[in-house]
Amino acid sequence: MADWKKSTYQVESLPSSLTTPLISLAQVVKDYGDTRVLDHLNLAIPEGQKVALIGPSGSGKSTVLRLIKGLETVSNGTVTMDGAAVGSGRRQHRWFSRGPVRHQVGMVFQHFNLFPHLTVEQNIMEAPLRVLKLDVAQARERAHYYLQMVGLAHKAPAWPATLSGGQQQRVAIARALAMQPRVMLFDEVTSALDPESVGEVLKVIRDVAHGQNMTMLLVTHEMSFARDVADRVLFMEKGKIIDDGTPEQVLVNPLNPRTRQFLNILT
Ligand code: ADP
Ligand code: MG
Repeated sequence: MADWKKSTYQVESLPSSLTTPLISLAQVVKDYGDTRVLDHLNLAIPEGQKVALIGPSGSGKSTVLRLIKGLETVSNGTVTMDGAAVGSGRRQHRWFSRGPVRHQVGMVFQHFNLFPHLTVEQNIMEAPLRVLKLDVAQARERAHYYLQMVGLAHKAPAWPATLSGGQQQRVAIARALAMQPRVMLFDEVTSALDPESVGEVLKVIRDVAHGQNMTMLLVTHEMSFARDVADRVLFMEKGKIIDDGTPEQVLVNPLNPRTRQFLNILT
C-alpha cells in the first residue's frame, strides 16, 4: 500500500460513503515551466475537518489552495471534491449540480482585495446578488448577519479605505462566508497585518472554526493558533507533505527531524 494511504485519517473498516473525503488530491503534480512546485502530492480531507498547512516559503502551500479553489489546473494527477473533478477536462470548475466549484469554496487571501468603490455592505452583497440571485433585501440581510459575526455590523455603510487592515480582513472573511461555502481556505490572512490587528482576525477565524461544521484549510505561520484551531496539521516541503498528524504530533512533539528544525524545537 502506498505510504499516503496509511494516513491516520483513513478508516478502512467503515463503508465508503462515510470515508469518501470531501477534498482529495491524488498524485498531484504542478509544474511552472521547469520548476516542479507540487511533486506527486496526496491529500484527503474529510468534511468538517480543520486542517492547518505549514511549511517554508515556496514549499507549495498556496498552490495547494489555489488548485482546490480551481484557480489553477494540475499538470498531472487529480483534484476532486465530493468525487467530482476540479480543474481538469470538461468538468473544470464543476462540482456536482451545485454550480461552479469556485462558489462552493471560499478563499481569503493575505491581501484582502475588497472592492474599493463599494461600501462594506455592498462588498458582501455583490456575490450573493450576482451569483446566488438573491434579491436586494435578502442579500442585505445576509450581509448584516455575517458582518455581525465578524463584529463589524456598525461598519456596513463605510468605505473599505476608512477601515483598519484588521477590519478589512474581517470584511473579506464575512464576504467569503456570505456565499455559505462548504469549504473555507485561508492563505496567510494575518501576514500583511500590523501586530495589533492579528489577534482580532484570528479570533474571528477561531469562532468560525469552532462554531460551524465547515471544512477549513488554513496556511498559517501562527503556530499557537494552528494548535488551537486545527484537528490536523500538515507540514509541506518542496511540493510534498512530509508530516501529517494531530497538532500534538506535528507541532508539539514531531518525530520528523525536518519538522523539528522548522519549528526550532531543540533536541
Ligand atoms: P508557498 O505558498 O508555500 O510559499 P507557493 O505555492 O506560492 O508556495 O509557490 C511554490 C513555488 O511555485 C514557488 O517557488 C513559486 O515561486 C512558484 N510559483 C508559484 N506561482 C507561480 C507562477 N504563477 N508562475 C511561476 N512560478 C510560480
Ligand atoms: Mg503562499
